[in-house]
Amino acid sequence: MPEGDTVYRTAAHLDAALAGQVLTGCDIRVPKFATVDLTGERVDDVVSRGKHILMRVGEFSIHSHLKMEGSWHIYQPQTRWRKPAWQARAVLTTAEHTAVGFELGLLEVVRRAEEESIVGYLGPDLLGAGWDAAEAERRLAREPGREVAVALLDQRNLAGLGNVFANELCFLRGVLPSRPVGEVARLDAVVALAHRLITANRDRVERTTTGDTRPGKQVWVYNRAGQPCRRCGTAIQSGRLGANDLALRDAYWCPYCQT
Ligand SMILES: [Zn+2]
Repeated sequence: MPEGDTVYRTAAHLDAALAGQVLTGCDIRVPKFATVDLTGERVDDVVSRGKHILMRVGEFSIHSHLKMEGSWHIYQPQTRWRKPAWQARAVLTTAEHTAVGFELGLLEVVRRAEEESIVGYLGPDLLGAGWDAAEAERRLAREPGREVAVALLDQRNLAGLGNVFANELCFLRGVLPSRPVGEVARLDAVVALAHRLITANRDRVERTTTGDTRPGKQVWVYNRAGQPCRRCGTAIQSGRLGANDLALRDAYWCPYCQT
């Protein structure tokens, strides 16, 4: 599952390739928008909002979300795609590049004026220019009984964190992911660390929360159930949290280092 750092980088690459260019081809392979053709329109910019990507083209905004398996690739003309064509949901062509969105979890075309109705609910964007730590903390604290890892994943509180960062943040702050938000002593420190971690990974291809980018060394607890804690050697535990649509996210923690 791509997290905000990956999405930010994806939008930056798309922006570098497409901004200022006129579309010479526009193929949206989603039934509802299959007739939308923005050929001849200029791409103004491509930005990320949390884990959402907005591609502003003429009067419209192509909104995509990578969800579980999605990705955008940028190709030179005549280059072979690295994924099968049947997985392509959007193919946008300019004189110099072809941008292909594969297996996008969400793809829609809206009027630019409607962007707010799509991303307006998001909390402060961890990688946005207007990042507001105090507002993120205030939003997290609204539901003091909620498990902290689940609250961190809720994009209405702060936008950009996925399952990897939520688990790693809890470990780094010594807090069990199931600890109610209201019992977390330093919520401000959690928020500050979230910002620092995701910013440090923004321009990095190999995500790391340990500072070590070698394979197998990049994270403290995520996806390491049964393996020894890197600090104390205790076996990492895993389980599920939450009672709504976030319930299926896996939680990982060290029962000794986190309380
Ligand atoms: Zn430990």
